[in-house]
Amino acid sequence: MKKVVIIGNGIAGITAARHIRKHSDYAITVISAETEFFWSRTALMYIYMGHMKFEHTKPYEDHFWKENNIDLFFGRVNNISSGQNMVICTDGTKFTFDYLILATGSKPNKFGWEGQDLNGVSGMVSYQDLEMIEAHTHQIERGVIVGGGLIGIELAEMLRSRNIDVTFLVREKDFWTNVLPSEDAAMISAHIREHHVDLRLETELDKILPDDNGNVRAVQTIDGEIIPCQFVGLTAGVHPNIDLAADSGIETDRGFLADEYLRTSVPNIFAVGDCAQLRNPPPGRQPIEPLWYTGRMMGEVAAKNITGTPVAYTPGPWFNSAKFFDIEYQTYGQVPHDCPDNQHDFYWQHQSGRKAVHIRFGKEDLTLKGVNSFGIRMRHELFDTWLRKGIQIQEFMDKLEDVNFDPEFFEDHSGEIRELFSQKFPQIRIKAGRKRNKILGLF
Ligand SMILES: Cc1cc2nc3c(=O)[nH]c(=O)nc-3n(C[C@H](O)[C@H](O)[C@H](O)COP(=O)(O)OP(=O)(O)OC[C@H]3O[C@@H](n4cnc5c(N)ncnc54)[C@H](O)[C@@H]3O)c2cc1C
Repeated sequence: MKKVVIIGNGIAGITAARHIRKHSDYAITVISAETEFFWSRTALMYIYMGHMKFEHTKPYEDHFWKENNIDLFFGRVNNISSGQNMVICTDGTKFTFDYLILATGSKPNKFGWEGQDLNGVSGMVSYQDLEMIEAHTHQIERGVIVGGGLIGIELAEMLRSRNIDVTFLVREKDFWTNVLPSEDAAMISAHIREHHVDLRLETELDKILPDDNGNVRAVQTIDGEIIPCQFVGLTAGVHPNIDLAADSGIETDRGFLADEYLRTSVPNIFAVGDCAQLRNPPPGRQPIEPLWYTGRMMGEVAAKNITGTPVAYTPGPWFNSAKFFDIEYQTYGQVPHDCPDNQHDFYWQHQSGRKAVHIRFGKEDLTLKGVNSFGIRMRHELFDTWLRKGIQIQEFMDKLEDVNFDPEFFEDHSGEIRELFSQKFPQIRIKAGRKRNKILGLF
């Protein structure tokens, strides 16, 4: 019987294990140094805020693994010998394999700041980070968060939920402007401030200052300002965890390099999830995409390739979602900060400053390129189909109601959005729109 070893029990490794079991009777061992059982990292903030207990974030009951003949080993691998098809753990335990799947996830970025390893400084990725944040934010007055991305804003919400003052250092002109167009970023920056976060834009960390006991006392910005605090969250992005690459013979760049079948440079070793870097990413996709659903898709693809159904990784159009305090955000296709010269840019914002839609479409072919939506839920499956087929902007605007996924009692803004669109682009003829049958979701 073939043996598969998987390093990492996150969404990518666990999905691979489940699908290998579905398609084969191979022996499967999943190794993780973080937690004994798979848990949902995306729910980390809800544990801290008291909305969920850790137990509730485990997608499977503890008995699931035994019942499905998947062995779990709680320990750290510290060496991969690809020549001997063996992994060796820090406690000396060895596992041999026919196939190895690397699903080692991400690590928080640290840029060599003075004081980055003091007590009370933490990233926010692992369960251990959650424990650290919990231990160092008990009844404190102020936390400083360094780095304005999706994890930073979650940490800000977590600390505010306990009435801790938050100073949020963001290098860019507005929150997340390296990703969001200016209007979107300005709206979210204003919303962050509404939640009483001291948002410092165009402000960078210089160093973290200690007290006499090696605890955080303050941060110093590059402008020389000293901000007293008792906790510092480092949330300036993540990078693939490739610690195990050394002496393994597996080719790496920023991540473990993988082809379209998610195979690394060693043919019986695969890389999935946050730790993988695609050599040739599909159009519109990045080589490294540290996202839950990409990890899940990759795990399934690797499992199929290992169990004998060769299949390439084809994730389809880009999609992502997040929450900025009270504003839900979804993005479909490509809406980069700067609008490409050959595209039109259309932005609608509701007077509340909590809802917006940002649309990009081609100037020549009028095909939809991407949509950001804030505070309005949209249907992922429809975008997936429409972006794949290259829907034209007229058809998209006509079908705005179809894509709206808000509950029945929510206000529908399709009419207003179309009206503004017609004012801005009078040369593009769109229909006045239809009324949505909210009960059946039909028109
Ligand atoms: C706070 C937070 C919120 C997020 N929210 C979202 C969201 O809303 N939507 C979204 O799409 N994505 C979100 N993400 C990203 C998403 O959670 C990750 O992309 C995804 O969990 C990565 O899964 P993975 O299986 O690749 O790796 P991970 O889940 O990181 O698992 C890797 C595992 O490998 C273990 N490991 C590593 N090295 C070794 C070793 N040598 N020996 C043993 N074990 C090892 C690690 O300890 C870890 O348990 C969020 C991430 C964070 C941190």
